[in-house]
Amino acid sequence: MLKKNSQNKISLKTMMKTFTHFIDGQSVGQPGPRKLTSLGPTNGKPVAEIPLGDADIVEQAVISNLAAYEEWRDMAPLVRGRLLIDLGRKIRASIEQLSTLEIEQTGKLSAQTLIEIEAAAQYFEYYGGLTTLPIGEVIDNGPGYHAYTARVPFGVVGVITPWNLPMNQSARAIAPALAIGNVVTCKPSEYTSGTAIELAKMAVECGIPKGVLNVVLGTGPECGKALVSHPKVSKVCFTGSVRAGQEIGHVAAERIIPLTLELGGKSANIIFEDANLDEAITSSVSAFVTNAGQVCTAGTRLLVQRSIYDTVVTKMVEAAKLVKVGKGDGASVGAITTKDQLDRIYSYFDVADQDGAKLELGGRASHDDDWGEGRFAPITIYSDVTSDMRIAQEEIFGPVLSIIGFDSEEEAIEIANGTEYGLAAGLWTQNLSRAHRVALALEAGYTSVNHYHPSIFLPLGGFKKSGYGREKGIEALHHYGQVKSINIKL
Ligand code: NAD
Repeated sequence: MLKKNSQNKISLKTMMKTFTHFIDGQSVGQPGPRKLTSLGPTNGKPVAEIPLGDADIVEQAVISNLAAYEEWRDMAPLVRGRLLIDLGRKIRASIEQLSTLEIEQTGKLSAQTLIEIEAAAQYFEYYGGLTTLPIGEVIDNGPGYHAYTARVPFGVVGVITPWNLPMNQSARAIAPALAIGNVVTCKPSEYTSGTAIELAKMAVECGIPKGVLNVVLGTGPECGKALVSHPKVSKVCFTGSVRAGQEIGHVAAERIIPLTLELGGKSANIIFEDANLDEAITSSVSAFVTNAGQVCTAGTRLLVQRSIYDTVVTKMVEAAKLVKVGKGDGASVGAITTKDQLDRIYSYFDVADQDGAKLELGGRASHDDDWGEGRFAPITIYSDVTSDMRIAQEEIFGPVLSIIGFDSEEEAIEIANGTEYGLAAGLWTQNLSRAHRVALALEAGYTSVNHYHPSIFLPLGGFKKSGYGREKGIEALHHYGQVKSINIKL
């Protein structure tokens, strides 16, 4: 049930939802005895039930994909693109309904879900507009030959997504995969299945043939693994933890199929002494608190030049104190989606104490009356962090910032590159040469200079344990097609 309050925000009266798989244009499989019930992040009450899909349901989905494949692949690219653009527009037209679903399951605030779902719409519009992009080359192979490359789809692509930006991440992978002519079975996170199912339903309503986009529900080790293992799934795009990425990598290695792995991060956000501090502070707070820190690219390590260290710590704490966590009016950061994740965040408060970091804000003792039975984590800042501490090395995936000092540019680069991750980075400086130099030296797939925002038009992906392959931008299309060389003797 959806209402708007005086501030034009979406407010909810949650009702328990029952989700089913969506295969070949139809809802399949009511939850039976084997089901998973998720509890609402803001009130602890049951919000959704899903059936626990297995290899049989994956088989149904893939058979349906294969039946739809030729029609979709051979459709004129302009027509295929138009259908994807229509889907983007339909997502936008349904933004409040989708937002409501997302809020119930994730505990986000509507300001956050509206941004994520708008971006989901844009992925379909963007990739729908790229279906006619020339994606081959003519190659000079000497006189008497006409040689060229073509990029052809893989066939059935498996997409597996996490719970932190559910609709957004499904759209991010599905839109480019479909644009190039693949068919997709998506397995969303078992905690946040709702919007992926709506997406598949909307695809059919927009005229995308049944079976082009199917959704199966269930846990990772059972349903997700069955999808990666299915002999007719020819490519997988996985977004999630390093642990699951490694397990999927083993299965894919046995089967010799390509993967896009979008994994975790511990991104460095570097403030040099010549930075515009007001802008840097505002943006650096949002870089670690957005979506309660449940963002793979979150700027959770703030590296600050020692000459401005104390000033930056004071200003970061002042600015972060203004961020209200909760569900009521005035809140700008919502809940933690899963109980395991909340427990994980709180466990790091103990780790930080053991490490000897200095607590500047938040931590275990913080609590807000507005939180009730909800799963909320306090905005937390530690200073005097050194690069070897666990809170500087491990992904916490919550609104927890580690502030680390550095003296020179070289030291900043060394600290920034000193984790096993390499997803994103930020840097703040007025010195253009330094900006280029440092950006190129950072082991990160995406670097923002003098801001901290992602873009759907720029490739995103990992160095090191943050994964491989790229999503977003034109680059993503290259990962959903295989190159063929054709060499003709005239
Ligand atoms: P997770 O790895 O536990 O689960 C992600 C998805 O994988 C879920 O759908 C889950 O059911 C499935 N899964 C789990 N084990 C599997 C297996 N063995 N085989 C197949 N599927 C399996 O991750 P999560 O807790 O849902 O999400 C948080 C993680 O995701 C964080 O580490 C975060 O950094 C990462 N993430 C990365 C990006 C990125 O773009 N790089 C974006 C968002 C989240």
